[in-house]
Parts: sequence; structure tokens; C-alpha cells
Amino acid sequence: MQYFGLHEIDAKNVRVGLTFDDVLLVPKRSDIKSRKNVNTKTMLSRNIELNIPIVSANMDTVTESEMAITIARLGGIGIVHRFLTQNQQVSEVLKVKRSEGIMIEQPITINSTGTVYQVKELMRNNKIGGILVKNDNDKLIGIITKRDLFFEYDDKKPVKDIMSKDLITAPDGTTLDEAKKIFIDNKIEKLPIVNSEGNLIGLITSKDIDKRERFPIASKDNKGRLMVGAAIGVKDNDLDRAQALCEAGADAIVVDIAHGHSDLAIDMITKLRKHLDGVDIIAGNVATSKGAEDLIKADVDGIKIGVGSGSICITRIVTGTGVPQLTAINDAAIIAQKHNIPVIADGGIRTSGDITKAIAAGSSSIMIGSLLAGTDESPGITIMRPNGKFKMTRGMASLSAAVERKSKESKSVDENYLLDYVPEGVEAMVPHRGQATDVINKLVGGLRSGLSYSGAHNLNELRDNSEFIRITEAGKAESGPHDVNILD
Ligand code: 5GP
Repeated sequence: MQYFGLHEIDAKNVRVGLTFDDVLLVPKRSDIKSRKNVNTKTMLSRNIELNIPIVSANMDTVTESEMAITIARLGGIGIVHRFLTQNQQVSEVLKVKRSEGIMIEQPITINSTGTVYQVKELMRNNKIGGILVKNDNDKLIGIITKRDLFFEYDDKKPVKDIMSKDLITAPDGTTLDEAKKIFIDNKIEKLPIVNSEGNLIGLITSKDIDKRERFPIASKDNKGRLMVGAAIGVKDNDLDRAQALCEAGADAIVVDIAHGHSDLAIDMITKLRKHLDGVDIIAGNVATSKGAEDLIKADVDGIKIGVGSGSICITRIVTGTGVPQLTAINDAAIIAQKHNIPVIADGGIRTSGDITKAIAAGSSSIMIGSLLAGTDESPGITIMRPNGKFKMTRGMASLSAAVERKSKESKSVDENYLLDYVPEGVEAMVPHRGQATDVINKLVGGLRSGLSYSGAHNLNELRDNSEFIRITEAGKAESGPHDVNILD
């Protein structure tokens, strides 16, 4: 066998790839008096603005509707993972979209002949406390709330026997301030909006108004609904899935493939562009400027960066491939900024300091997996151990994730499939970290302080003016607590 074009490894000129622990940001003169005064607004993708640069990862132990709702309320966004059936994923997106809005369009209703059991099911499945009741002519005739169900043990009883018939409604065009006054004056919590023919066109709830006031920087679409993204793969049926997710209201579709710099990803982006409208297309993962450039040429609105950087990834060990994350971000961002395409740094974030560095290197937002996998809002299961509470997480290319996927497709998993499968991720436990809100607030607080150390009033200034210094092992040791016994 002959080799052609083999080069000698030129040790002196092999590029050095850097990651978070290799560098620090050099402090700069700052006129910032309080870290509250810095602005963390950013772009997730060409058309989606976020108030904080935090994105929860499309992993089955991180983002379903609960996480997506929490993070969107705080000003970031969640990407619902794709390892669900199409209907389940659509339903998760709908839960986010229905969770709040200026007005809930197409509120859930029940026919007056429906049963108490059906009402309870609807309430449980949709996490709602009230359902509007219609008659056979589709006219609104009542409402049934949790209060009507107190002490109601006969599940077969028809809704019409226990619903409240004294409905207060408001006309189309009612403002939120007007609705708030109606809630206060009438001591009610739900206000159906009807058109001139008396047909139901929407619902305003007191909870929605309360949430708008409690979460003023929430990420919202133009209907006042929380924003959410959804991941898809690159198989033929993923186009249908993407269309269904868009119909459900997804704001971004994320083409999620381990090696995003591939014909498979580019062909899928091209198809999505042709068939989808009004939604941002994000793709990844890539780790090079050429990877970013090729996705930009395919007309993406955002790019996800990171090959082998994630906490549960073993891609670099298994395949020998990858680029240390800070260099990957920087290489991709330099080309992406020429085209005004935001870059999402995906994987490897352990601290708020990593976030500041990722943004200084050029990313516009940060995708987080295992740091959020330990929170109450993640779908992973909680495990009690003598040394504390933990949650399970796993790489989406881990063996257990692959087996679960396969077993959903067919009843039994072929032994050969297991033997042939080469995992690029691991299963792991992470400490239980309480509420996602607390974790995110701490991360964003640290980022704000980081901005002020760099004298940056916003993320653009951080990207433009920051200066990295490379550190040694000694510098790294000095950066953490040292020569003390840490108290737990
Ligand atoms: P983390 O925040 O946990 O460090 O990284 C999360 C990221 O790891 C995800 O967003 C995704 O890009 C990546 N990831 C998730 N599962 C796997 C896997 O099984 N293998 C690899 N190589 N990467 C994964």
C-alpha cells in the first residue's frame, strides 16, 4: 500500500488549542459602579433576541417543557430535545407556548356533556386549573375550575352539572390593564375573550398578568408567549417533525447532529429553508471556522459550537477528534461575525467564569447541559445516596440513550446493534442543585461581575475589548482556593 501526501508532523507549527482553564481575562479599567448596570442582552440567532445568554441543552435529562418555561421566564431559552416521539415533542413545545401569553389562543375547552374524569385528565395533562365549557353549537356556556371539583368524587358526572354558568367575558381587543381591572373588580381569575357573535377567541388569565409582572425580562414571541426551541435530527421524517414543531409555535429549530460539518446537516438545513418560514434555523455542532462557514453558506441563522467539549462526552477519546472549546468558539465566531450570525458555545461550561470567557472569545450565548441536569426542572430522575441527593444525566450518544431510543422504535433491541454501537457519551450522576432559577441567577450574576472586571457594559463590549492571558499549571492552582481547609 502506498501513501501519498503524508506530511511530517511539524511539532513547532502544530496549532495550540485553548480551553477555559488555559486562560484568564485580564482586568481592565472600569467605570461600572454596580454589576446591575451591565446589560446581558444578546442574540441567540439571526432573529431571536435573549435578555440573558443562557440556553438549556437539547438533552433528555435537561430540557423538556418545565426547564424551557423556567429559563424563558428568566430571559434565556430552552431547546426541547428530540428523543421523544414527534407528538410528545410537539406537546412539550405546546406546553411552553400555552404556559403564558398576552392571550391564550385556542384555549382548551370541553363539551358540556364531558365528564368530571375528562376534566381532571385535561387539567392534569395540561397543568391548568380551569377549562371553558362549550355546548354542541360551539358556544361558550360555562367554566369549570379546580374549585368546582372540590369534594366531587363522581367521575362520571357530566360537566354541565357542576360548571359555573355565571361567566364574565370581555370583547376582542381588551387590553391587559383592562383585564386586570376586571379580575380585581370581580374577584375572578380567568377571562374568556369573545367576538361579536359570542364565539370564544381566547382566554386571559390573572396568572399570566402576574407572571408578566414577576418576570419582566422573559423571552417572549410577538404574541407574548414564552419562546422555545426544538431539536431535530437529519433523517427524512425530521422534516415533518420540524413542520409540526413550527405549527406548535417553536421559535427555533435546531438541527442537532454530532458532526454538524457534514453533508447530512447541510442537506437538512437546505430542506428546512425551503419548507419553513418564520422560524430561525440553528445547526451544529461544528468546531472550526470552515465548519461555521459551510453552515453559514447553507443559510443558517445560528451555529452551535463544540465537538467533544461536553461534560458527558467521550468523542475526543473515542474518535481522537475535537478542538479545545475556547479555540473552537473563537475560530467559528471570527468567521460568523463577518456574516452577522450568532454563535452558541455548547458544552464544557462549569462556572460563570467559563461563560464570561466563552463570550469574550466570541460566542453570543452559552448552551448548558449537566449544570442544569441537577436541577428540579430537569427531566432526569433523582437518586438518594448516603452522601446526598443526585440526579442522573447522560450523553445523548451514550449506550443507555441509544438502547432506549432503539427500544422505542422496535419491541426488542437486536444484540448486534448493541455490539456494534460505539458510544460517544457516558451516563453520570450530578449533585442535586435545587431550582434552576437559583443556578441561572448565580451564573448570570458571575457573568455580570465578569463584564465589570473587563470594563464592559454589555456583551459586545466584552467581545471587542477583552484580553486573554494564558496561564500555567501554577497559575491555575493559584486561581482556586489554596492552602486552606475549605469548610463545607
Ligand atoms: P455540558 O454542558 O454538560 O458540558 O455539555 C452539554 C453538551 O454536550 C450538549 O449540549 C451536547 O452538545 C453535548 N452532548 C450531549 N450528549 C453528548 C454525547 O453523548 N456525546 C457528545 N460527544 N456530546 C454530547
